[in-house]
Amino acid sequence: MNSHVVVPLADQAILGVGNLALAEGEPSGWRAKSVAAYADTVDVARSQLERRLAERLRLLTGYVPPREGLVVDMAGRSASAVMDGVLFLLRGDDLVIVRPCAHCGTGRFVSESLECVTDLGYALAVWEPFHRDCEPVDPPDDESW
Ligand SMILES: [Zn+2]
Repeated sequence: MNSHVVVPLADQAILGVGNLALAEGEPSGWRAKSVAAYADTVDVARSQLERRLAERLRLLTGYVPPREGLVVDMAGRSASAVMDGVLFLLRGDDLVIVRPCAHCGTGRFVSESLECVTDLGYALAVWEPFHRDCEPVDPPDDESW
């Protein structure tokens, strides 16, 4: 058996070029169709993100923010909402809250993923994010024991 039987790629490539040339000659609105298809996809994705965030917030808190309170960031593929001053962010499947540094009040820190109301309670009541330089200094180790 000769393992060097070559598939005539050259002929196929030429055929492909010929097909392309034909397609270019057609008066088709392929650009507009492509852009419209993309825009539809973005609209669907935006609506899905809004719905998923609203549903996750409803399950977690029992409340749903008004639709106009939902902000979708298609570039970041995330959705956010502020409820009673708390910024919720849905990224992928992770619903988190975003808070500033507990010391200087700047920056944006993301909590652990909130799976249940207990996670949310911890994030609201206990979690205190700090910039590295803002972390409280630990008291010196007690070496008396
Ligand atoms: Zn800080």
